[in-house]
Amino acid sequence: MSDCLFCKIIKGEIPSTKVYEDETVYAFKDIAPIAPVHILIIPKEHISKLEDVNETNSAVISHIFEVAAKIAKDMGLTNGYRVVSNCGEDAGQTVFHIHFHLLAGRKLGWEEQ
Ligand code: AMP
Ligand code: ZN
Repeated sequence: MSDCLFCKIIKGEIPSTKVYEDETVYAFKDIAPIAPVHILIIPKEHISKLEDVNETNSAVISHIFEVAAKIAKDMGLTNGYRVVSNCGEDAGQTVFHIHFHLLAGRKLGWEEQ
């Protein structure tokens, strides 16, 4: 998707602070962190949102959770962390390239923002 912000980040057309990358997944620091650790994990393939996940593209989504666990382990997040994906307007999704927020480094309330 040529006009997608996160596709541009993957291609390096917009700068980002990379945390992890492999063939199918890219992870980078959120530009407006809401916790001391706030990382976005995204598939390199453009998928707009959670409801567009299906049996042909879901392998990368399960891989994202492996990557989240690896990043958390490598960063020593032994106190815990949260992985969350906002889907659609009511959840506050602002970028329509599916992404998973990895949040940690403080006590996280349940009803945030
Ligand atoms: P959401 O509101 O769930 O769609 O999350 C979108 C996230 O993308 C927000 O937390 C933003 O701070 C983050 N964001 C937007 N633009 C950038 C950017 N250029 N680099 C890193 N993070 C960004
Ligand atoms: Zn995209």
